[in-house]
Amino acid sequence: MYMKKFTNLLIGTNNKGKLREIRALLPKYIKTYSTTNFNLKSPIENGKTFEDNSIIKSKYFSKKTNLPCLADDSGLEIDILGNKPGIYSARWGGKNSDFKKAILKVYRELNKKDKNWKNKKIKARFICALSICFLDKKLVCVKGKVEGFISPEPKGKKGFGYDPIFIPKGKKITFGEIPFSKKYKLDHRFKAFTKIKKFL
Ligand code: IMP
Repeated sequence: MYMKKFTNLLIGTNNKGKLREIRALLPKYIKTYSTTNFNLKSPIENGKTFEDNSIIKSKYFSKKTNLPCLADDSGLEIDILGNKPGIYSARWGGKNSDFKKAILKVYRELNKKDKNWKNKKIKARFICALSICFLDKKLVCVKGKVEGFISPEPKGKKGFGYDPIFIPKGKKITFGEIPFSKKYKLDHRFKAFTKIKKFL
């Protein structure tokens, strides 16, 4: 088991929403760097699972910078869509990661599946795989999830990505309506983080 504390850590994401959440979770003694500090584009994510893609990113960014890298691969699974968009969650937003577009695609696919879906509870979950790699070596990879339902309409402007259409189990409002200070402690990244923090 890798027990040494990191003093420097690259956060391997070009997604500002994820970067903000991961920074809020990390202990303050760790000096963090982002991919924009190094002007790095994201690698091609050709893995078959969230874990594969998380490790692809943490290895790639670590090798580019010589820093240990913490990367996240995450996404939304919707039961009646056969767990789609899943690992394709970012790609449903098109080349420019336009999340209005991704949300419209979710609604289009749900309409195709069941015209009456808005009157039902559509089960879904956010998944997050967090990994830390140093150069080519995987140090750790963990997974977290948060269960919930799809909102019949997008609500709230506080989050990012699919936040406006995801209602976490036990709540009546979407992640998009929950303030950042509460949301980041409820979600899939936080659940994964509780498993990885002993390695930091
Ligand atoms: P990737 O991990 O870079 O492949 O991107 C996953 C996509 O899933 C992101 O671009 C987000 O839009 C979406 N996603 C992941 N986590 C969250 C979240 O906490 N809220 C909303 N959307 C998320």
